[in-house]
Amino acid sequence: MSIAFNDAKYCWMDGKIIETKDAVDSAMSEIYLGIFEGIKAYVGGNVVGSGPLNIFRWKSHMARLRRSATVCGLKIDYTEDQLLQATRESIKLNNFNTNVYIQPRVWPKAGTGRYLAKEFHILIPVWNFKTLLGKDNARFSEKRRFMVSSWRRISSDALPAQAKCWANYANSGLAAREANRLGYDGAIFLDNRGFVSEGTGACIMAVRNGKVVTPPVTASILESVTRDAFMKFIPEDLGFPLEVRDIARVELYASDEVFLCGTGGEVTPITSVDDIPIGDKYPGPITTRIAEYYAEILAGNVEKHRDWLTPI
Ligand code: PMP
Repeated sequence: MSIAFNDAKYCWMDGKIIETKDAVDSAMSEIYLGIFEGIKAYVGGNVVGSGPLNIFRWKSHMARLRRSATVCGLKIDYTEDQLLQATRESIKLNNFNTNVYIQPRVWPKAGTGRYLAKEFHILIPVWNFKTLLGKDNARFSEKRRFMVSSWRRISSDALPAQAKCWANYANSGLAAREANRLGYDGAIFLDNRGFVSEGTGACIMAVRNGKVVTPPVTASILESVTRDAFMKFIPEDLGFPLEVRDIARVELYASDEVFLCGTGGEVTPITSVDDIPIGDKYPGPITTRIAEYYAEILAGNVEKHRDWLTPI
């Protein structure tokens, strides 16, 4: 079964660089037990390093990859440093010098044990992406109509919601398909208690009376690397108070601003939820400020957070 899916000519699999078209696996693999990471490397401004691209929070993503592996009973036979070298090598071989998305994947090797596999594949595909961030980026301000999904976010007593396993994304896929079918741009999950959880591939933050609020990890959210960074810099550097607490669905309707945050979605402003317009101004001023500052951090222009960047 070919698992090539992007136009990068090269990727790294099981210890060596190969052509992406040769990244093949048995169709009998129990891929539903697999895990992955979503990581981004941005073109840097001022960071002193060997190249123009810097990976955002490599160590945090590697730590989560290990946690997800532990939860799902998988083993990673490579050190963090070996995986970094592998990532660097495939980005360089592909001649990528604009923003790159990196998606390490680990899954059981077919025939090495049902549910309790003993050997595992590891693949690092990379591909280019277009950012929503940056001054005068028209995509940032596009209108986005979201709905609260009729699918609840998977509950942590059924699947490990806080880890990044593929199985969780069946839940996201159903919610995204529903939203698309009904003409919305995206979906927001409630958790099994009926409180706001997150988006289908990003965490959620709302602004109420100048304060940023975001649901806790116990609301069945993925333990997001971006959310963690935002929780630090929003109050400390930007001066907006931030509270981690349960959010009721109606609070979204009453918010001044709502946005998603995550590696993929970066900062994604939301125009309306269930067709109720959010706030008076879109995109909201606090969302915009956060997005601008995040872009500065990613470009290496914020001295204080340079240690979040790893040069390629
Ligand atoms: N929730 C879900 C379901 C996600 O897929 C993602 C993207 N990885 C996030 C939240 C945001 O996590 P991170 O900031 O680590 O990308």
